[in-house]
Amino acid sequence: MPALKVLFVASEVAPFRKTGGLADVAGALPKALRHRGIDVRVVMPLYQGVKWAELERLEGTINVPMWWGTARAGVRLGKLPDSDVPIYFLEYNRYFDRPFLYGPPGDAYPDNLERFTFLSRGALELTKAIGFLPDVLHAHDWQTALAPVYLNTFEWSKPLHGTASVFTIHNLAYQGNFGSGGMFITGLGPEHYNEHEFEHFGDLNLMKAAIAHSTMLSTVSPTYAREIQTSAFGFGLDGVLAGRGGDLRGILNGIDVDEWNPATDHHLPATFDAKHLAGKARCKAELQQQMGLPEKPQQALFGVVGRLTSQKGFDVMAYAMEKILGWDLQMVLLGTGDQDAERFFAAVSAHRGDKFRATIGFDNTLAHRIEAGSDFFLMPSRFEPCGLNQMYSLRYGTLPLVRATGGLVDTVENYDEAVGGGTGFMFNDLTTESIANTVGWALSTYYDRPNHITAMRKRAMEQDFSWDRAAADYERLYLEAYSRRRKHPFAG
Ligand code: ADP
Repeated sequence: MPALKVLFVASEVAPFRKTGGLADVAGALPKALRHRGIDVRVVMPLYQGVKWAELERLEGTINVPMWWGTARAGVRLGKLPDSDVPIYFLEYNRYFDRPFLYGPPGDAYPDNLERFTFLSRGALELTKAIGFLPDVLHAHDWQTALAPVYLNTFEWSKPLHGTASVFTIHNLAYQGNFGSGGMFITGLGPEHYNEHEFEHFGDLNLMKAAIAHSTMLSTVSPTYAREIQTSAFGFGLDGVLAGRGGDLRGILNGIDVDEWNPATDHHLPATFDAKHLAGKARCKAELQQQMGLPEKPQQALFGVVGRLTSQKGFDVMAYAMEKILGWDLQMVLLGTGDQDAERFFAAVSAHRGDKFRATIGFDNTLAHRIEAGSDFFLMPSRFEPCGLNQMYSLRYGTLPLVRATGGLVDTVENYDEAVGGGTGFMFNDLTTESIANTVGWALSTYYDRPNHITAMRKRAMEQDFSWDRAAADYERLYLEAYSRRRKHPFAG
């Protein structure tokens, strides 16, 4: 039986370029799909910093219709590392030969609508150029939201119209909002600027159009799939999403278990696993040393890694710092983001260097070392579509402290004091009190019931977060989308 053909379009793919969890998903899920026999091919832009010398330059160019004329784009072909999954890079330097993916920190490039119109349109043109007619197009977030819309419009009555579409929401907070005057840049006529497609409170909203046009929808955890249909988490799109609630699935992300494996991790000074934890103690000592903290093997060490934005709840945590740092613990933080937050944590680091050290920056090796060397990991997210860091933590035997929201609910099991059950510590309200109380709860467990911590660590490290489970769910979703689009099941 011929394989199901899937075109996977994403604006960032690890390890080529990454700003967040989307890149991790786009780098790992296609490989797991390939293992299931799916013929999946990935498309992303050729950004500055992608090592293009290692890629094969395909002959000729593809013609991508833009509002101002035709963009002639080069195509470079590579493979996802350790796989035979092809990844095509669309080369158009005017749009992508820039230092940042979406804009300088805290800012967006003014021509982002145009840049990502190019990506969506270019991905469809690429399929024609390479003779790959996909059964399913899988688009992600606002940057590729136009691709499913184009299947229903420009490709109407053309071969690609048979292609089903799946649109995955990785983060509803970023919807691709532009001024209504930008509609012409999409290439679509003003008749599409209406309340059912692009118009949203007087603006152009790319995600809304994708939600309307895609055959099936998904998001990255079952809890987040429910939450985004409510006004508290829907960022104004809850009504639209609830309207398509029957077509919306929540599929929990996996993690790259090769990249994040404490038994083989080359970023670490020592490796370890659930049965041999000596390496973890060494990672802790080296982390304390590297961050400039006193080397205290017995003192509880809390780690934090993440974007310093309001999503992550660190603004609330900031108010709890004084209280927390009064206790018998150490804390390390790695992150970049809002300037106020960066300044605040840098200042705490300067003043309370005996207990708290922050590195403001993006540093993958240090992220691995914090996951490995910490005893606990703090994630007080305001909302969390899935979250990867808590899964990395679990795998590294570092017990997560999380707010009960989104994917955090689906991955962390709350500590049960009576029997020593669970894999982490959870709280409901995002307040300074609950953050401090939960840190206190973890701390008292650490010092007073160390046998519970040991049991939780072991349990945490034994969880299976591989992509195989998620890939099976995505395959089901693709087949469902296919049947709906074609009105018959996939038979190859
Ligand atoms: P989000 O996608 O919302 O940023 P996730 O937890 O899903 O959050 O994924 C974040 C990813 O980015 C993880 O792989 C995490 O290790 C990484 N990351 C975030 N901030 C940093 C940083 N400052 N340095 C290194 N890695 C980071």
